[in-house]
Amino acid sequence: MSGQERRAPIAGDYDAVIVGAGFAGMYSMYRMRELGLRAIVIEAGDGVGGTWYWNRYPGARCDVTSIEYSYSFSKELEQDWDWSELMASQPEIEKYLNHVVDRFDLRKEVVFGTRVTSAVFDEASNRWTVTTDAGDRLVAPYCIMATGCLSSPLMPDIPGVESFKGVSVQTSLWPREGVELEGKRVAIIGTGSSAVQSTPEIAKVAAHLTVFQRTPAYTWPAQNRPITAEEQKLVKESYDALRERQRTSFVGISGSFNSALLEPPTQKILDLNEEERLQALDQHGFGVTRMFADVAMSMEANEVARALYGEQLRRVVKDPETAAALSPTDYPIGCKRPVIDSDYFVTFNRPNVSLVDLRKEPMVEVTEKGIRTSDREHEFDVIVYATGFDAMTGALNRIDIRGRDGVRLAEKWAAGPRNYLGLMAQGFPNLFTITGPGSPSVLSNMMVSIEQHVDWITDCLAHLRDNNIAVIEPTAAAEDDWVHHVNTVATGTMFTAPSCNSWYLGVNVPGKIRQFMPYVGGVGKYREKCDAVAANGYEGFELRAAAVPA
Ligand code: FAD
Ligand code: NAP
Repeated sequence: MSGQERRAPIAGDYDAVIVGAGFAGMYSMYRMRELGLRAIVIEAGDGVGGTWYWNRYPGARCDVTSIEYSYSFSKELEQDWDWSELMASQPEIEKYLNHVVDRFDLRKEVVFGTRVTSAVFDEASNRWTVTTDAGDRLVAPYCIMATGCLSSPLMPDIPGVESFKGVSVQTSLWPREGVELEGKRVAIIGTGSSAVQSTPEIAKVAAHLTVFQRTPAYTWPAQNRPITAEEQKLVKESYDALRERQRTSFVGISGSFNSALLEPPTQKILDLNEEERLQALDQHGFGVTRMFADVAMSMEANEVARALYGEQLRRVVKDPETAAALSPTDYPIGCKRPVIDSDYFVTFNRPNVSLVDLRKEPMVEVTEKGIRTSDREHEFDVIVYATGFDAMTGALNRIDIRGRDGVRLAEKWAAGPRNYLGLMAQGFPNLFTITGPGSPSVLSNMMVSIEQHVDWITDCLAHLRDNNIAVIEPTAAAEDDWVHHVNTVATGTMFTAPSCNSWYLGVNVPGKIRQFMPYVGGVGKYREKCDAVAANGYEGFELRAAAVPA
């Protein structure tokens, strides 16, 4: 069903309403159906894919190997699907999810082009009523928010954005029909992952590309390449072991193609003398800064690594002034999700690419013709906004979610997200948040974290049904303890360093509270905790029985 078509509003009773048709929503649908539950998926976009439906910008691709970033629930699927590259591009990932959805006949359960506007819990009936912008009214005991951590695009509050007469486009809302960039004067605002991936691709076709940088990024070469037939064969023979390693690892990666990612490093950079550090730089390039344990924990070690990073930049970028501007100086390595690139820095050696360092030449406004900085007006045909997302809580807070006593989730989370295991919030019974704040989510290979959450929720719903339990809700004490634990493990890491300003901390959104949102305890340990909670009769949750018919 498409949002373009006028359709009659849906009014109906379900066992579960699932919001979002990305990897999380579609796997949830699969598992709900398997459990014999009647579920429906509501999706704002006109197709499945979530992230991989919306982010069609040139160069969009996976930052972990696709073999790792794929579903593990079907052995037949694993054997039948071939990835063409180590890190697949957006079209291939979108094609993969469409294949999965058709293979398992899930599409008919999705209502597309429809945005969920509210979800309200009724304590008398223990039901959620979910309403949409198409006038739908869906009632169900369970509500599964598969709304994504990076699905609420942010437009910067720059004066004059509306006045630009050329083409304005956000990387996160890139039109399906594409944007004409060939021979155009293009500006890109931002230097996060989306910009770093698209900059080299836009530079290849644009007459000129100007990159507007406020904060330089630490980025590491993707080393992407086609997968060989031999590698495909080997992986297919060893999927079981690969999945097991993913599930017990720190970041949800088996390390099959990069063993450095399997477990955190143990060697210390401070134990090396200057000569040894430079030798390591010669050998590993930018990668040297990710090889040492102390870089993540000691600011002194981090500064040594940062100096090596700057040295490597000077080796790669020919113009010394540009190299200096591209070199991060005021925040530590490891405070943000690593940016993974294909030829980002060498792109600045091209004659048709220039960098505007907004720290030296601040942006004043967007004009009819382009962008005015403190120095001058730059004229463009196209402005690309690669300006990020209201991450982790953005999509949830945009829905009017009301739990017991009419309390709004956005109000409860006004001082930062609070929940238990990142899965459920006290006061919001039977409402699950997949890869919610307080879980490893964005710190991991998200496919592993998505499957783990969906599997846990499915087992939980089976338990409730088998034990005639109507309501599950975390206790206030369990929630407090979990929030405390999440904050404690993040303390002292680079993620929460005073000089770190990341979207993990919410600081990219005006007015958002500074709080580190994901759980940094590691995928394997986190899974153990979730499994132990379930094994102990859903410890930390209050389970309320269904009323027995008279
Ligand atoms: P999403 O894919 O975000 O899907 C959520 C869906 O919910 C969206 O389609 C959205 O339209 C819908 N939705 C939200 N609110 C509503 C509403 N109110 N009503 C109806 N529908 C709604 N992670 C990795 O691990 N590795 C990567 O390489 C990687 N690359 C990424 C690249 C980009 C450009 C971005 C933005 C993120 C990337 N991520 C990556 C993170 C990525 O978001 C996850 O890996 C994963 O795709 C999330 O799946 P999801 O189903 O949880 O959420
Ligand atoms: P992002 O990391 O938040 O980057 C946004 C960029 O826009 C930053 O450089 C920011 O600068 C800049 N910006 C924002 N407002 C600005 C303004 N008013 N003026 C100038 N610059 C401004 O967003 P993203 O690049 O979309 O990436 C978000 C996350 O999505 C990533 O961390 C990653 O998890 C995921 N992702 C992954 C991939 C991948 O490799 N597979 C690709 C894309 C995205 P400041 O830093 O100064 O605020």
